[in-house]
Amino acid sequence: MTIKTRFAPSPTGHLHVGNIRTALHNWMFARKEGGTFLLRLDDTDAERSNEEYVEAIRADLAWLGLTPDEEQRQSARFARYEEEFEKLKAAGRVYPAYETAQELDLKRKIQLGRGKPPIYDRAALDLSDAERAGLEEQGRKPHWRFKLDHDTPITWADRIRGEQHFDPALLSDPVIRREDGSWLYMLPSAIDDIDMGITHVVRGEDHVANTAVQIQMFHALGAEPPEFAHEALLVGTEGKLSKRLGSLGVSSFREKHIEPQAIVALLARIGTSDPVEPVADVEPLISTFDFARFGRAPARFDDEELTQLNQKIVHLLDYDAVKDRLPEAMDAAAWEVIRPNLHDMHDVEQWWQVVTGPISAPEMSPEDREFLSLARAKMEELEASGDLWKDLTGALKEATGRKGKSLFMPLRQALTGLDHGPDMNALLPLIGLKSALARLAQAAV
Ligand code: GLU
Repeated sequence: MTIKTRFAPSPTGHLHVGNIRTALHNWMFARKEGGTFLLRLDDTDAERSNEEYVEAIRADLAWLGLTPDEEQRQSARFARYEEEFEKLKAAGRVYPAYETAQELDLKRKIQLGRGKPPIYDRAALDLSDAERAGLEEQGRKPHWRFKLDHDTPITWADRIRGEQHFDPALLSDPVIRREDGSWLYMLPSAIDDIDMGITHVVRGEDHVANTAVQIQMFHALGAEPPEFAHEALLVGTEGKLSKRLGSLGVSSFREKHIEPQAIVALLARIGTSDPVEPVADVEPLISTFDFARFGRAPARFDDEELTQLNQKIVHLLDYDAVKDRLPEAMDAAAWEVIRPNLHDMHDVEQWWQVVTGPISAPEMSPEDREFLSLARAKMEELEASGDLWKDLTGALKEATGRKGKSLFMPLRQALTGLDHGPDMNALLPLIGLKSALARLAQAAV
């Protein structure tokens, strides 16, 4: 069997970190199994769907490296939905209902008042042809419900949640189509999963009740349901589903200079029994991906953890992986020197400025100025040294008796303008002799 997964966002907004996690797991599972990853745009709602969001979803997935093998759009498939709808109608599995939203609301309140679960009472099934005609004459249009089979218990072996059981008699027949003929999510999704050969539906546990209904839809449509894996939801450090997480997406990650590899490494592992690890390469994450490792407790998303992971991952990035984003003159050797000092890729510019100048050194004390003047003279003498920094500091130590901080700090400050940074031994060759001499001279006056 060739594995096929799908990520099915509605293009009614930007992807948020929760959607990204679902997309990632679908992508990883397909990659691990040598299968196919489908992007399905659930754009049946013409009013709320927007081409701008379609583009943004594609761009976000591309930036994350989660490139789909195939793309489909529900808006191109209305004829197929109509076809299956007619078959289900003929088979008595969908039926028209005429209650208004207010009438349904009232029914629910009465049921709740009597201590009963608010399940649709199927009153519409009892309407005679004459009653239906009467309602339509009044200008009422039906919406359509899928008729659950109350005699067939619903069960599935969820890849994450284990055995699931639902009594269909305790579920409302779901509305699948509105009065204006537009589709709700439920039926088109099942038709697509069948037509597109989806073998595994991986999505959030907020869809568990939908799955119960859709399992009966698959059977009613003459197909075996795919496998399901419902993952626990993502929560913030505050332990709740927050508004903040709902608006956290690729653009905010990019603004904060977070690398796609860091998001992938974090979202691949949180909520599982495997540790979050700094890996710049996705392969080890793919090869260890396993639904059995997913827990039932919510996965915690922590910005601070992401920031730290991002830093560790930046320190692992090869020159080839970043060279397009580096200043033009910065070569592999310079990258190696600067890389361990980066919090994120944005810091590169600041360090490159330290190398190329101009820099401004802090005001030096008279003693340090004298020391730097001597340092300049020594550096000139040692010009040909193969190990300039070592020889220079060695000579200065001997000449002045300075050591430790009083030896190194004025030199670092004069040469970089900062009191911390890359190993001077490695940095000095990047700065170059000419600039180094000029910087020492400038700090000495
Ligand atoms: N468009 C649905 C959603 O975003 C898809 C759910 C599914 O994966 O089936 O919730």
